[in-house]
Amino acid sequence: MYKIKIESSFSAAHNLRGYKGKCENLHGHNWKVAVEVAADNLDKAGMVLDFKDLKMKLNRVLEKLDHKYFNRMPYFKKVNPTSENIARYIYDNLSSRVAGLLSVTVWESNNSCATYYG
Ligand SMILES: [Zn+2]
Repeated sequence: MYKIKIESSFSAAHNLRGYKGKCENLHGHNWKVAVEVAADNLDKAGMVLDFKDLKMKLNRVLEKLDHKYFNRMPYFKKVNPTSENIARYIYDNLSSRVAGLLSVTVWESNNSCATYYG
């Protein structure tokens, strides 16, 4: 099996509901995002998927999140905007456009990340 991975980032704010601690207050992060795509076989060019195409598709999803306040987005009015749920949101928005999508990982700091596998 082959696996490729790309990384990107965006900036956005959130506050967590039903949580006691600093993160219940409005604050922002520079979120890092990694996307993994897997394939059993390579295409004619010897690739799982062109990195350029994958980056373009990911950036289309991240454009909707960049410089936003998660809690005001309709999706995150019901779903708490944790790193776990943000990873799932990105995965669900990418999965129809990217065959073989394996996982989406979201870092909210250098030391903390969450991964969603479909
Ligand atoms: Zn936070």
